[in-house]
Amino acid sequence: MPELSGDLDTILEWADEFRTLGVRANADNPEDAQLSRDFGAQGIGLDRTEHMFLGERKQIIQTFILNEDEAIREKAVNDLFEAQTGDFYGMFKAMDGLPVIVRLLDPPLHEFLESPRALDVEIAKMEATGADAAEIAAKRKLMEQIDAMSEANPMLGLRGCRLGIVYPILPQMQVRAIATAMAKLKKEGFDPKPEIMIPLVSTVKELEVMRGYAEKAIAEIAEEEGVELEIPIGTMIELPRAAVTADEIATKADFFSFGTNDLTQTTFGFSRDDVEAEFIPQYLSQKILPYNPFATVDPGVAKLVKMGVELGHEGNPNIVCGVCGEHGGDPDSVKTFHKIGLDYVSCSPYRVPLARLAAAQAALADKQ
Ligand code: PEP
Ligand code: MG
Repeated sequence: MPELSGDLDTILEWADEFRTLGVRANADNPEDAQLSRDFGAQGIGLDRTEHMFLGERKQIIQTFILNEDEAIREKAVNDLFEAQTGDFYGMFKAMDGLPVIVRLLDPPLHEFLESPRALDVEIAKMEATGADAAEIAAKRKLMEQIDAMSEANPMLGLRGCRLGIVYPILPQMQVRAIATAMAKLKKEGFDPKPEIMIPLVSTVKELEVMRGYAEKAIAEIAEEEGVELEIPIGTMIELPRAAVTADEIATKADFFSFGTNDLTQTTFGFSRDDVEAEFIPQYLSQKILPYNPFATVDPGVAKLVKMGVELGHEGNPNIVCGVCGEHGGDPDSVKTFHKIGLDYVSCSPYRVPLARLAAAQAALADKQ
């Protein structure tokens, strides 16, 4: 458990008396969830479930993606269900009594696969060392299969809710695991509070379809387990189209979480993975950009967030709105989010104390 010094603890307690903005954390394992709690997080604002698909799990998801045999694919999905149920059980238990927003699988599936270029190098080595011809042929087939899945712009491709719409079995498996972990904990006397978040939505129809899958899976598990399961379902707002049609989207959402990493990327058309690219440092030195918009929220992006919040309330007056992009832990951005009237920010566990202080400063500035 992290030890905050006594003085800092006292200051943070004062801060909590003033701030109106909630502070949650982004975490995807029980240790980080506990750490977040110890730092004063009031819940998990973003559990990126793709982080739970690493290590041995990568092999299982690869089997699902690449194998054409239905029985083998079904077994892979069952294995993932078992593993995810354990993951969520640990997360919800660590955050007992506090909300945990679980985001369904977001990245393009080929991120879980080997790169065709690496396979090509491997094949060349196998050939040079006189490896078995059948093994080489199998590797080449794998390379071609993965190559066929590659996209010119994967971040604009088959990811987020699009993935769930193309492969419904994946979100269904994840929701079943969330509901099963919740049911188990309830039976043990805990108070689990999971929420389900759909990523990269741009139209209300996408959310409607994904919500339908989730509601069906929750109802089935509730029936099987004989437990009442109420799980809010919401969406990330991380594409400009989602922000400007937030009134429609909100009719199908219990909450919005603004993903300002992707929203910054798609609003500017800047790649979030290439912020060191030559032109951005030059833009900063020439003051074409006053600061890095991936670190501190840009006024144009903040305008979209504000529009999303206002329209969201038109579509659903009870909608809860937060932010879970990296900006959620940046003090200047926290002040902007307070002004916009968000309900909470969510940031990395270590930034939680900073966000608590920034939120209090923003509230005090209002009074002055
Ligand atoms: C975001 O886009 O701001 C976000 C929180 O999601 P991710 O960083 O995982 O894309
Ligand atoms: Mg995102």
